[in-house]
Amino acid sequence: MKKNRVGEYLDFLFPNPVCELVYHKDYELLIAIVLSAQSTDKRVNQITPLLFSRYPSLKDLEKAQIEDLEDIIRPVGSFRKKALYVQKIAYIINHQYDGVVPTSRESLVELPGVGRKTANVFLSEYYNYPAIAVDTHVERVSKRLQIASKNDDVLKIEKKLMKFFPKEEWAKRHLQLVLFGRYHCKAIKPDCRNCKIQDICHEKKKTL
Ligand code: SF4
Repeated sequence: MKKNRVGEYLDFLFPNPVCELVYHKDYELLIAIVLSAQSTDKRVNQITPLLFSRYPSLKDLEKAQIEDLEDIIRPVGSFRKKALYVQKIAYIINHQYDGVVPTSRESLVELPGVGRKTANVFLSEYYNYPAIAVDTHVERVSKRLQIASKNDDVLKIEKKLMKFFPKEEWAKRHLQLVLFGRYHCKAIKPDCRNCKIQDICHEKKKTL
């Protein structure tokens, strides 16, 4: 069965998948995810140690000079917008949520720079909440494997993935699909020759 083949292969490749963003506190994870938009986890991990050591609390981030935040955030791109997001997120979490990142998706998506994908990544990573965040890797892999259709938007893909995998696997499957897309089923030159599920893949004919 296709579901079993995909699940088994992901388990074989990534038996214990972990989020590659480095963080130590709830808000550090949330901010790291926000910073990773249109960038990479690797780049984010290069700037967050400086960001969170220079501003070691939400209160410090809230009061930071915006120009200094921009300078630190610059390497991950869209730095002006992201610096503002960081400062506003720090302010709102401090003043509306007593310094604790809210745990409902509805509250999370009210925060600046936080959409459904970011909220899902945060909830599944920090609270192991059952959610499948659809980023560029998850979208590509889902379409290539025909779990989703070519014209599906991210919400539709998320719903199809939630039907495809059992609920208790969602958080793990999200991480595995991200890693599979990042290291094997890459956007350009996917490693189809060594892929063990090429027989159920829509894309392989184009790439082999
Ligand atoms: Fe991705 Fe290639 Fe495997 Fe298809 S055969 S899932 S395109 S790596």
